[in-house]
Amino acid sequence: MGTQAVVARATEGGGFAGRIVLHDGEPGTAASLLRSLVHHVCGGDVEAATRLLIDEHPGGWVDIPDADSDGTCLCHDAPPLNGPATTELATHETSGHTEFVYVLYPDRLQILVLGSDGWEEIRSISWAY
Ligand SMILES: [Zn+2]
Repeated sequence: MGTQAVVARATEGGGFAGRIVLHDGEPGTAASLLRSLVHHVCGGDVEAATRLLIDEHPGGWVDIPDADSDGTCLCHDAPPLNGPATTELATHETSGHTEFVYVLYPDRLQILVLGSDGWEEIRSISWAY
């Protein structure tokens, strides 16, 4: 439930940049939410889903939108009580406290965890059903 994650796009040089998600970060939950977002909210357009998650809500997310929920963002819906949410991108250099990172590629969703040698792929899931 409370597992924090980052949803991101790949950057040049093998890194990533994206936004924090405070809840539902476990792979079993997050992967199905992201697939639902891509297919049922964005009509299969992965780039549109990526823009929604990263560019249109710079404060990040409490939980992300899917077919059943509009999600709750930290910029428009639920700004933190102690001031505006950070709008800094969460990157491979700043996300060491994050358990799971979800990188959206055109053809697949990549799941990363921080290993002793840096971010490592633990799963790669095709968007196709
Ligand atoms: Zn927002």
